[in-house]
Amino acid sequence: MKPEASMVHGPTASLPADAPAASPAAPKDLPSIDRLLRDPAVTPLVAAHGHALVASQARELLDRWRAEALQGRLSREQLPQLPDALRTRCEERLTPRMRRVINLTGTVLHTNLGRALLADEALQQVLACMGSPNNLEFDLALGARGDRDSLVEDLLCEITGAEAATVVNNNAAAVLLGIAALAGGREVIVSRGELVEIGGAFRMPDVMAAAGARLVEVGTTNRTHPRDYEAAIGPATALLMKVHTSNYAIQGFTSSVDEATLAPIARARGVPLMTDLGSGSLVDLAQWGLPAEPLPQQMLQDGCDVVTFSGDKLLGGPQAGLIVGTREHIQRIRKFPMKRALRLSKLPLAALEATLRLYLKPDRLTRDLPTLRHLTRPVAQIEAQAARLLAPLQQAVTPRFEVRTASMRGQIGSGSLPVETLPSAGLALAPVLPGKRGMGRALDELQTALRALPLPVVARVQADELWMDLRCLDEGAREAEFLAQLPRLAEALQ
Ligand SMILES: *Cc1c(COP(=O)(O)O)cnc(C)c1O
Repeated sequence: MKPEASMVHGPTASLPADAPAASPAAPKDLPSIDRLLRDPAVTPLVAAHGHALVASQARELLDRWRAEALQGRLSREQLPQLPDALRTRCEERLTPRMRRVINLTGTVLHTNLGRALLADEALQQVLACMGSPNNLEFDLALGARGDRDSLVEDLLCEITGAEAATVVNNNAAAVLLGIAALAGGREVIVSRGELVEIGGAFRMPDVMAAAGARLVEVGTTNRTHPRDYEAAIGPATALLMKVHTSNYAIQGFTSSVDEATLAPIARARGVPLMTDLGSGSLVDLAQWGLPAEPLPQQMLQDGCDVVTFSGDKLLGGPQAGLIVGTREHIQRIRKFPMKRALRLSKLPLAALEATLRLYLKPDRLTRDLPTLRHLTRPVAQIEAQAARLLAPLQQAVTPRFEVRTASMRGQIGSGSLPVETLPSAGLALAPVLPGKRGMGRALDELQTALRALPLPVVARVQADELWMDLRCLDEGAREAEFLAQLPRLAEALQ
């Protein structure tokens, strides 16, 4: 069986077979749309989904079958299957395109798989507030117009120690807005070692141009010194900017100027200092033995005027761009006209507020925040899970693949800590073949079958094996869902 067959959404589904028909049907043997819709096998479909959807699917289906009939490839015996084919088409059309998947890649914040998972509290808040009018921009105490930022500003200030805070659509927007509002038409000084590209379209020099600021590069790729910044500051300088090199590391003969060193230089010359942290964790990850990431609260203490970071990376919330800093600079950013175009929608705002509230109880975070729960899962627990899943998985993929438990190294992901890897464990599946021939094809077929499951499974290929890193497979209900699909996997690999 072709594994994709169960999840084809396109018009290729419900076509008659391609072979020439034994007793060919002519186009005139096909019913009209009206007659098909009145068929007793089709009327329940119209009752369930309405006339418009079923009629449009019926039109497309009849067009395809008519084309097949014209080529003599439709048989009379297939005609009674028309209502079933129509039902399948309607169901496929109504199947959501965005679906849950099981992330066994070992990358906790996987950008292609939606980055951070929302905590239960955040999901509840979204559910509770989005189907109802709410106080998005309405001050309930005063009975007057309010500001959406106020829903999260005090939380952000309490957690980071900032004087003021605002939020936008994502961190790319936060950086763009910060530069445009503080340095539009003027110069921004950035080290040559920090002119990063973060996935395709977000390249610091281009963002600078889009924000209407002139980039002034200082230092070299590997070394930048305080005097480089000092020498570059002039009358046109509007901003000193630091960018966290989140998705690469420069090693060897290197030197960069940290925020604590740069802040007094900026202050002495009357120029604000902004730092883009990218991920920016709100809690110190070192307490769980994880590699440390810069904290926005530390950056503010070190003297930054503005700090930007993402909502859906280490913070563990929805897509959002968080901007914290001094009252004066946040006020300028908030008043800048582009803010309206980049503002955060009520849906992620609800999730963000609930996520930030979890930080009021920091000792519960590794339980309540999925991102931290996954990052801090003890390896021994993941190994025990691998041992538990070994036999059922082996049974499902026998005799085509051999399964073993294995130590693995995963990643935090989303550009955080690129050189660090997370010790983890999982299952490695090797094709059972006499030699290397056919190895690639067998692994492709296995991956395709895994992606075609009702809950698609995404794993990774490493050294001629398919690796399932179990760090992100929660024990309990999620693990049970994985196990429940194994019979279908076995069927697909027949
Ligand atoms: C991820 C990242 C961004 C972009 O953040 P988004 O929330 O994805 O828009 C910007 N700067 C740095 C340093 C990053 O790591």
